[in-house]
Amino acid sequence: MDKKKWVYVGLSTLVVAAGWTVEPPNEPAMRDPKPNLSTPGFVIDSHLHYNGNDAWEKSFLETYTKWNAMAVLLVNMNALERGMAFAKAHPDLVIPYASINIESPTVEQDIQKVYDMGYKGLGELFALREWDYDAPKYEVIWEKAQRLKLMVLFHTGIHASGKMSRMRPGPLASIAAEHPLLMIQGAHFGNPWYAEAAEVARRNPNVYFDITGSSLIKKAKEPWIWAEYLWWSDFYGWPHMPKSGVPALQKLVFATDEEPAGLEANILRFNRMLDALGADEETRRMCFYGTIAKTHKIDVSKRVKKE
Ligand SMILES: [Zn+2]
Repeated sequence: MDKKKWVYVGLSTLVVAAGWTVEPPNEPAMRDPKPNLSTPGFVIDSHLHYNGNDAWEKSFLETYTKWNAMAVLLVNMNALERGMAFAKAHPDLVIPYASINIESPTVEQDIQKVYDMGYKGLGELFALREWDYDAPKYEVIWEKAQRLKLMVLFHTGIHASGKMSRMRPGPLASIAAEHPLLMIQGAHFGNPWYAEAAEVARRNPNVYFDITGSSLIKKAKEPWIWAEYLWWSDFYGWPHMPKSGVPALQKLVFATDEEPAGLEANILRFNRMLDALGADEETRRMCFYGTIAKTHKIDVSKRVKKE
């Protein structure tokens, strides 16, 4: 038997012994998933911009109540009072974050102020000037956010302004590594820097991404493509991973980043990806609400509806 064959026989034996099929269990077999609107009984939308007017609030309350969903509401600095009043009136529906401006000359005081008001996180943040997120000048922000246990939602990838170069996912890795207790969410899975975003999340236990925006739309015809970036698994192994590393797909957290009425379409889109990648129940639970609930210590025992 030549060397190549020995390698094949050895590998096959290992595969059989481990109970694996020859194909990776999660290898997406070009399945075309059926429309799927199911949820694991509870949903937390981790990225929704608050628009402080009556019509928006009404639409939000109707839609999120109907779907037994909560949302991280990202409140602009000019709507802090109204946003907090809305959050306090609906504690079962709202997790309030403040959209501080990282260029504000009073950024440290701004963070203290929103924390004292009751905000649970900061974001969505944008690096629209000439510095990356991990530039030394921003260090005070991450330091303070970690100290106050505020989760931070960073915009990553292409932005509505047309800019993108300062919002690569890579710098989130430096911030995460230097502030291991800071919980970080990158928005939009770094679109189009998916591979970079995935590796940032893989190596840093405190980094997660949402996959809102155009990504799931432009890849709708190949919903299995995400396995190329979120690749680590029992089959491929977990090389160079931190002990607290989680399964690849669990690095994504559900979000919409649209009008409240867009919730249903986003559940459909997100499920299309989860179905194509063969996500198990635990993964769906963690993506749809588990990770964010754990971060904000939300007791889900009374929230999850049994089908
Ligand atoms: Zn964004």
